[in-house]
Formats: sequence, C-alpha cells, structure tokens
Amino acid sequence: MRQSQLLMPTLREAPSDAEAISHQLMLRAGLIRQLAAGIYTYLPLGRRVLRKLEQIVREEMDLAGAQEILMPAMQPAELWQQSGRYEIYGPELMRLRDRHEREFTLGPTHEEVITALVRSEVSSYRQLPMTLYQIQTKFRDEKRPRFGLLRGREFLMKDAYSFDADWEGLHRSYTSMYEAYHRIFTRCGLYFRSVEADAGSIGGEGGTHEFMALADIGEDTIAVCSACSYAANLEKAEYGTKKQLVREQAKGEKELSAQLERHHTPDIKKIEQLTDEFGLGADSFIKTMIYLADGKPIAIIIRGDHEVNEIKVKNKLSASHLELADQATTELVTGAPAGFAGPIGLQIPMLADFAVLAMDSGIAGANEKDFHLGNVKPDVHLAEALAGDYRNAEAGDCCPRCAEGSLTLYRGIEVGHVFKLGTKYSESLQAKYLNASGSMQPFIMGCYGIGVSRLLSAVLEQHSDGNGIVWPRSIAPYQVHVVPVSVKDPVQMDLAMHITARLNEGGVDTLLDDRDERPGVKFKDSDLIGIPLRIVVGKHAAEGAVELKVRKAGEIQKCGLEEAISFALGSEY
Ligand code: ATP
Ligand code: MG
Repeated sequence: MRQSQLLMPTLREAPSDAEAISHQLMLRAGLIRQLAAGIYTYLPLGRRVLRKLEQIVREEMDLAGAQEILMPAMQPAELWQQSGRYEIYGPELMRLRDRHEREFTLGPTHEEVITALVRSEVSSYRQLPMTLYQIQTKFRDEKRPRFGLLRGREFLMKDAYSFDADWEGLHRSYTSMYEAYHRIFTRCGLYFRSVEADAGSIGGEGGTHEFMALADIGEDTIAVCSACSYAANLEKAEYGTKKQLVREQAKGEKELSAQLERHHTPDIKKIEQLTDEFGLGADSFIKTMIYLADGKPIAIIIRGDHEVNEIKVKNKLSASHLELADQATTELVTGAPAGFAGPIGLQIPMLADFAVLAMDSGIAGANEKDFHLGNVKPDVHLAEALAGDYRNAEAGDCCPRCAEGSLTLYRGIEVGHVFKLGTKYSESLQAKYLNASGSMQPFIMGCYGIGVSRLLSAVLEQHSDGNGIVWPRSIAPYQVHVVPVSVKDPVQMDLAMHITARLNEGGVDTLLDDRDERPGVKFKDSDLIGIPLRIVVGKHAAEGAVELKVRKAGEIQKCGLEEAISFALGSEY
C-alpha cells in the first residue's frame, strides 16, 4: 500500500478530552474517528488491526470446534419478554419500533436469539455438544461511554454459546473455550490474567471467569496471589488468615458488662475523625453499616479500615437487591443519627465479617447520638451475628487458596468473559432436546464473550512508548514500513518499490511511505503508527544498502538489501 493514497490522518496532539492512552493513540495515529459518544468509524489502519484480531479469534474458535454464524442485531422484543430480560435489562438496552409499532431491541448480547434458534433447529442429544459463535456489532446505551473503544455504545464482540446435554458436558465445553481464550490473548500480545468472577445467582460451581488485561486505566480490580495461581475479581476475591477463618466459641465465658467504656464523641462520625480523636489506627474500630436487603434493614459489621463488599453480602443472603439504608431508616433501627451505629443492642439481623470477629476488642458506635463504646468484644457482643466474609480483599491479605502467599491488587480491563449459564435461558425460552432415554430436557448452556474492539484498546494500553504505538507483530496493521528518505531520488524510489513488492509477494503486509515529506516528518509518523519493522531507503541505496529499525528495540542497523528482505520475511521482530 502506498501511504500517499492511504486515509491515515495523523495528529500531532490528541484532543484534550481523550484521557486513555489507547484513545489518544488511536486518534493520533488515525485509527478511528468518533461519530457520536461511544460510536466510532474505523479508518483503514484501525480496520486492519480489527480484522487481524477477528482472524485470531476466528481461528481459535474454529480450532476449539465452534461453528461461526451471524445473527441479526435487530431482535423482536417478544423474545426478551419471554426470557424476562425486557423489563430488567434497563436503559442500556436500545429499544426501537418498526413501522407497525412492533417493538424491537438492538442486541446487547444474543442469549435470547441463539436459544430460540437452537430450540427450533436442534432436537436430539445426538447433535450435542454444539458451540456456535459470531463476531458482530453489539449495542449498549452505556451510561458513561468513555476511553474510546474501551467502553463504547456500539462495539464489536465475539459471542459464543455452548449447548450440552449435562453439566459434565458443559464443563468440557467451558474448559475448551477457556483454553481457547488463553491462546487468543497470548497471540494478541496481551498481558492478562484469567480471574474468578462473581456468577450472581446462576452459574454453578466454577461458574465464571473473566479475562483481564492488566492496565492502570482498567475499571476492575483483581486480586492475585504471589505464590499460587489464585486470581479473582475483587467482587469475588476471598481472603484468608488462619486466625480470621476460625471463629472462637467464647459465648458466655467472658463477662459482658464490666468492660464497656462510654466515650463522649460529639459530632465525630467518620472513621478518620475517630482515629484522630482516639489516636488509634482505623483497624481498632468496629464499623456498623445499616443496609436494606430486599427492603429489610440489616447491619453489616466490618473492621474500621475495611470496605463492605456488597456482592458477597447479597450472595450470602440470596438477596436480589442491596442498598445502603437512608438516614430515616438508620435512625429508626439504631436510635441515633448515622455515624453512631454499633452492634450492641441492635434488634436487626447482624452480619459480622471474619476480620472483626478476629479482633480482641474495638471501639464501636453506641447507638446513641454523640457516643461511642470502647472495649466492645466481638467474641462476646457479636456472638449472635452471622459470621462471614463481607469485605473486599486487600493488598497483603493472606491467599484464601494456598494460605502461603499474599494478595496483590491490580487494575484490569475485562476483555473476555466465560460463563456457565446452566438452564437459565433454556428453561425460560423452553429450549429442550430429547435425551437418550426419550425424555425432553432443557439444554445446559454456557456463554463466552470477547470484546474485540475493546481488546484493540487494551493492547494499545500496554504497547506504546513516548513516540507512539509499538504493535505486537501478530496484529499490526502492516508488518513492515518501507520509508524512502527522498521520493524524488529515482534510485531510492526504485529500491523502495522493489523491496515493497518482494515483501508483499512473500505475504508480509508492507506499507510504502511514498509521500514527498521531510524525513523527520516521515520518521515521526512511522514511530507514531508503530509498524514493527521499518526499512529506511536513503543515501546508501545506490550501493544496495538500507537501514533497519525494529520499532520495539529502537536501534538502527545498516545492512544489505537481501539481508534486509530476509529479515523482514522472517519472524525475529
Ligand atoms: P463491563 O463490566 O465492562 O460493562 P460486561 O460484563 O457488561 O462488561 P459482558 O456482557 O460480559 O460485559 O460482555 C462480553 C465482553 O464484551 C466483555 O468481556 C467486554 O470485553 C466486552 N464489552 C462489554 N461492554 C462493552 C462496551 N460497552 N464496549 C466495549 N466492549 C464491551
Ligand atoms: Mg462481564
């Protein structure tokens, strides 16, 4: 390809509203342009990278035995009503009407459509297992579309769905997708971790993993063990210390009354204020938070330096809705304004975190305005509380799996997600097959997503330097950039065209910078667009010599024509 003809509008500066590095680079290198918030056009370079990513995904899906299909983006609302998701999906679901006033959605995901398809086309256990996938545009009216392709409203996803006769079959299908995901992200040059994730109310054992690209801009936090392979989304990450996990049965053995100390703490409500007032660390306090779980007040009791993990609480209580109680409710159940809640005397269900139960004693709210109580002993005063893991894991926590290593927290971008659905959709949409003994059974399903366009951004978050993009070769828009220093010099141009032709013949995607620009401009653009290998054809062209620059390494090396071509055809860059 000749660069003079290529629509590659590079920018010296990224627009100021582009916060993420990947977003800045994509705008500066002319990969994408925005049409509306979260909605983008892929320009030629961006489209080429996206196609390479798609191709890697396709090859690995095919290798795993999945079959490619293409489903419609436009989906009748009735299907969503049947699955029960039409009402609960919320404002992210794009809804529209046709000329007959029939309601439709623009698919944010395709469980409904695929289940309806398989319901009518697959009827016997003999056809199972079956995994179908597509690479297709999805629509989600995200509340905060941002960071370019990282959170779009229209984006490219690979979504696969498996259908099995039983849970063992699902486990095999799931494992095969899980392994394919490892291969895909590795081939894309991504630094990633697969992590255990929260499956909510469905999913069964080992129900879901997310694939996280490690990047500071990531919206997720993951906890990773330093010693074993344990890694989990913070939503789900457990923690363990031998002491914290064993709850002592000290009920009755200690005197209840004697030790409590009353402290006058006027207007001192926050942990930061308490630590100042008492001159103690936050871990000396017992924090009592009043929540509404499906409308009913409960108290969650954690150590002062910890944060409640609402997902863990919700799962423990099998609640579908959990929210912090309003002021009025808090006053009603504690008899005091917010900030003075404590476990003693509370008449509502209490959930106490293991780390609180491991404390010898602490300071808690007194359920009385302007007072706290000292010497509250969890063994004694929280003996009736429901013990559990209700807080976020923290850096340095002991690993819950091996109890040897400690946890480190990283930020991650969710690029993929594998999920055991079980019969959630096959039951609601009545998708059944005939099993070997002649009875109708709902399919056991799994679903597997990769955000292909988000993946592009995630790779860029990890692969750049101060001068621009540094593409991993497997997904680079072109592998080689041939740059004649002076296009007016026929010797240089002839040689540059000769090299380009030879490389294209050899199956190496090559871009020829035939623009009549100053060398500095050309090199700057070349660094910015990040093609892995640059061949500069300059003043030594007449002797058949050129310069090679591997974008990643940065050094420039002079060599002969044939040597340059064989290096470019090889795989050492
Ligand atoms: P998130 O938590 O980031 O909103 P999700 O859990 O809603 O993602 P899934 O429903 O699991 O996402 O979708 C499968 C994959 O699609 C995700 O792993 C992610 O890579 C990608 N994806 C989801 N939402 C978006 C979006 N708005 N823009 C780009 N990619 C997305
Ligand atoms: Mg997800």
